[in-house]
Amino acid sequence: MSAEGEYDCIVIGAGVQGSFTAYQLAKKNQKTLLLEQFLLPHSRGSSHGQTRIIRKAYDQDFYTHMMEECYELWAQLEREAGVKLYRQTGLLVMGPENSESYQLFKVTLQKNKTPMVVLTHDNFSQHIPNVKLAPGDGAFVDISAGVLYADRALRTVQGQFQKLGGVIRDKETVTNIKPGPVVTVSTSAGVYRAKSLVITAGPWTNKLLAHTGLQLPLEVVKINVCYWKEKAPGSYSVKRRFPCFLLTEGEESKEHIYGLPSNEYPGLVKICYHMGSETDPDQRDKQTDKSDIEILGQFVTRCFPGLVPEPAVVESCMYTWSLRRPLKQPPIVHIMNDYQPYLSQSEARTNCGHGFKFGPVIGKLLCELSLGEMPSNDLSPFRIRRFHTKTKSAL
Ligand SMILES: Cc1cc2nc3c(=O)[nH]c(=O)nc-3n(C[C@H](O)[C@H](O)[C@H](O)COP(=O)(O)OP(=O)(O)OC[C@H]3O[C@@H](n4cnc5c(N)ncnc54)[C@H](O)[C@@H]3O)c2cc1C
Repeated sequence: MSAEGEYDCIVIGAGVQGSFTAYQLAKKNQKTLLLEQFLLPHSRGSSHGQTRIIRKAYDQDFYTHMMEECYELWAQLEREAGVKLYRQTGLLVMGPENSESYQLFKVTLQKNKTPMVVLTHDNFSQHIPNVKLAPGDGAFVDISAGVLYADRALRTVQGQFQKLGGVIRDKETVTNIKPGPVVTVSTSAGVYRAKSLVITAGPWTNKLLAHTGLQLPLEVVKINVCYWKEKAPGSYSVKRRFPCFLLTEGEESKEHIYGLPSNEYPGLVKICYHMGSETDPDQRDKQTDKSDIEILGQFVTRCFPGLVPEPAVVESCMYTWSLRRPLKQPPIVHIMNDYQPYLSQSEARTNCGHGFKFGPVIGKLLCELSLGEMPSNDLSPFRIRRFHTKTKSAL
């Protein structure tokens, strides 16, 4: 017999954003259904894996401001569930001292009076052993940054949602959405109705929106998640207080390279390239481009002499970029958040390669939007119509 039900709100997609949205809705006594196409937990989207970086170091003020609240909301969830989700390690930011991107990171933190320590070429190796700072590069540490335990965080927020009476139905793919004052959502197992709908489908957003005739300017890219072996076990370990790090740009590339201390896999340091090649989320591993791994290998050779410059383990993940397609410019790497009146009392949102840390605040904002409340943060930096004229005509 097929499932049926009436809800105040349906959330599609149990990644970090959908899970936090559902949790916030349940906290506001909304009868909420969270739908997920795969059996939970799964490693097919963007939110899997054991770790993510949390940081205030950004090149734009609005992210740094949002992070103030995010840290509080993460701590609140830790307290509610009695689970540790964050470990402070600091974030080492490096980049050409005179480059615009490095300066923006530094000035944004300074302007916002975020605790930071600026390192010099003279004292760098004393604070950060086993890393070579390139001549002409500057370095500073965002002190409050650290590691979020991603898989654990997802389990925790989904568990708290259920404790509040929320319903999760996994292994149920949404196959159709019928907009209207009451939204009808059909899945592989049933039909559900709700007063509002939140779509947090990550890389599948456009596939899902195709049912409504709406498309967003998005590109999905596969990221090779590379783990590099320590020559001396423990030398870059979280236990030795090795920090997370981010290179704004370097000899190898203009794109960011970032990493986390060895932790989840003992003896292996996670280092990734902040760019990938386009993929279909249902055929992710058909994308076999490894040019990013070559770039990372060169970076590791140059800056991390204590690591074997060939990845020991490569896993996969996906970013969903917002695009400025008509201008053929590089992807805009903002989290994207917008209201789509077309869907009637529904929201469509997605985000890109740095959205995990923002999960609590995005969940809160999507909850507010779906309840028709005034969003408690300024959403103007995230509006789709800022980016894409084609989308504008669809609104
Ligand atoms: C390699 C890598 C490193 C990263 N590092 C960081 C970091 O250090 N710090 C940070 O803050 N962020 C980081 N991010 C980004 C962050 O992980 C993502 O922004 C975030 O996980 C996106 O979550 P989401 O909920 O939007 O998408 P997802 O996690 O992909 O969730 C979408 C969900 O929707 C489900 N779904 C889709 N279609 C349907 C359907 N039709 N029916 C039912 N369910 C459906 C999917 O199965 C999926 O579970 C990283 C990402 C990657 C890939």
